Formats: sequence, C-alpha cells, structure tokens
Amino acid sequence: MKSVGNLDWESLLDRLGAFYHAGDWRVPYLRDHAEDPFQVLIGTILSQRTRDENTDRASARLFAKYPTPKSLTKATQKQIESLIHETGFYHTKARAIRATSREILTRFGGVVPRTLPELTSLPGVGPKTANCVLVFGYGLPGMPVDTHVHRIANRLGVVRTKTPEETEAALRESVPERYWIPVNPLLVQHGQNLCGPYRPKCPECPISELCATGIALASGRAPPRPEDDPSRRVPRSSARPKPPARASGPNRVERRSR
Ligand code: SF4
Repeated sequence: MKSVGNLDWESLLDRLGAFYHAGDWRVPYLRDHAEDPFQVLIGTILSQRTRDENTDRASARLFAKYPTPKSLTKATQKQIESLIHETGFYHTKARAIRATSREILTRFGGVVPRTLPELTSLPGVGPKTANCVLVFGYGLPGMPVDTHVHRIANRLGVVRTKTPEETEAALRESVPERYWIPVNPLLVQHGQNLCGPYRPKCPECPISELCATGIALASGRAPPRPEDDPSRRVPRSSARPKPPARASGPNRVERRSR
C-alpha cells in the first residue's frame, strides 16, 4: 500500500464540485439518504453489490416500516427479506441488518457509534460502510473507498494500490484531513459519469490537467497504468457502462461538505 504523489486536492475538488454542480449529472445515492446515521448505515449495507436504484427502492420500503434500530429488531428475518429482496444477497443482508440493529440497541443504547473501531465491530460493517457513516451520517472526516474511489485514485497517480483497503490507508496519508469529506461523493460521482471503469472520457474531464492518466494521454504517452490505455481497453459486453442517468434535486452532501 502506498501513497506515491502529491496532488493539489483543493483545486481537484473545486473543479469537480463546480463541474458537477453546474450540470445535470447522475448523483451518488447516499446524497438522498444522508443525515440519519442509522439509515446511512443500513442503506450502505443494502448497497453492497447492487445498483443504486435497487438500494433506493429497498431503503424507502424498509425505512417506511422500520426507521429505527428498535423497530428493526422487532421485524422477522422474512419480513426484512421481503422488503429488500431486489438488492440481492438478501438473506445475508437481512441477517446483518437485524444483528447490527440489535447490537446498536444493546451495546450502544440505540445510538449508532461514531468511531471506526466501534462501527467495524458491528456485524456486516466493514471499513467502507463505517467510513460512510462518519462522512454521510455524522459529517465527520472519513475516507470511504469503493471501487470508483479506488480506481480513480490510481488513475490520478496519487496512489499505487491493489485493494480499496490499501487505497483508504494511502489516501489517509495523502489527502489533508480538511478535504476528506468531499473526496468520496465527488469521486463516486466522477466514476459514475466520466471516469468509469471502461474508456474514461479524459478529453471531457475537468481534472485532466491534474491527473497522471489524463496528462499522459494528452501528450501521446501510455498512461501509468496500462489498463487505463483506451486503445487497449476492450469492455466486456456484460459490463458495458450505461449512459449517465439524469438526476435532479439539491446536492446536500457536497454542499454540506464544502
Ligand atoms: S483525466 Fe481521465 S483518467 Fe483522469 S480523472 Fe479524468 S477521466 Fe479519469
């Protein structure tokens, strides 16, 4: 795991913020679920290995009936499964949701904890989910790293890592703490729009001048990571990204983070 370069994070986050606020771009689902730490926690568990739209619908159904840890502990496994079915892995997720709700009640008096060690001690809560609760639930500095943040941080050339866990550690070293909160929402948004897993749209990118991959491509050189060379990328048909969905509404997370 390592952080390998300096980056002007202030400029990068300013440019991404201005770019995405000015357009009608697809937005990360957590934006609409922020501010209730319990719902952020459960929503993030639901979001694992599924599409944002599925998470949105399942979260809305689940929280309409069971909005608190106390109410969720009274629901049966089957009742929860029937509400979150479309997110996939619903047996495992329902088990984790019930167990986590129970522990929040018994060990933490019904209040979602605010530290990484306490959060990751809950069933079904890994580093990404715990960091999401800090950032989106409590507005505290955290570094949630999902596949978008991991991929883009490597393309930017600021880390050279193999796993999201390594990227989280490297970004904690590389990014000044005052910029931690907006890193995830802006990079996820970028990953869902221009900097997708296949054929990143570097000529349209507002941060290409700060990005090792963008700089290399613009000067005719191969990007630092061979897998980011558009001429060599062959998308798998099953993984071909869809055009960005349009979204509307205020950007609460990013506004709050800035
Ligand atoms: S320049 Fe290309 S690789 Fe770099 S962040 Fe922008 S879209 Fe992604």
